[in-house]
Amino acid sequence: MRFDVKPILNFPGKSLDFQFTLDLSDTEMNGQFPAQEPIRVRGSVRNTAGLLELSMTASTTLDAVCDRCAKSIRLPKEVEFHCLLAENLENEQNDEIVLLEDGEVDVGELARTAFILEMDAKFLCSEDCKGLCPRCGADLNLGPCGCKKDADPRLAALAKLL
Ligand SMILES: [Zn+2]
Ligand SMILES: [Zn+2]
Repeated sequence: MRFDVKPILNFPGKSLDFQFTLDLSDTEMNGQFPAQEPIRVRGSVRNTAGLLELSMTASTTLDAVCDRCAKSIRLPKEVEFHCLLAENLENEQNDEIVLLEDGEVDVGELARTAFILEMDAKFLCSEDCKGLCPRCGADLNLGPCGCKKDADPRLAALAKLL
């Protein structure tokens, strides 16, 4: 979604609000497609003494599967993003500046990138999820399954030699 900031480009003290929904249901994250619900994005661009400051918040609830125990989980997710907007970068060396194109900024693309960059490396039902037993598949969060722990394969090989 492109957002036109020309109405406030030359008016310090003015701001413009925007809101839209982002569809990332086809976007793979950690091998899953967790963003099945639309992502609500709200933000504003404010002209502060001639500098254009953009801030926005993207929020949704992710539908994912725990990476350890495979339980379905719903994870509330909120991502904030801030940057400065400029018409050109003549004298600036600043990564946080996003260039305007014909007075417009692609807030959809910025929100999409920010959301994906902020994604957790794993989806877990809880930080201390014990996962499934690799041998019998039992959910170890419900208690021990009774399988013996695997012997160290190097020791097993040694035992054979002896
Ligand atoms: Zn889990
Ligand atoms: Zn087991």
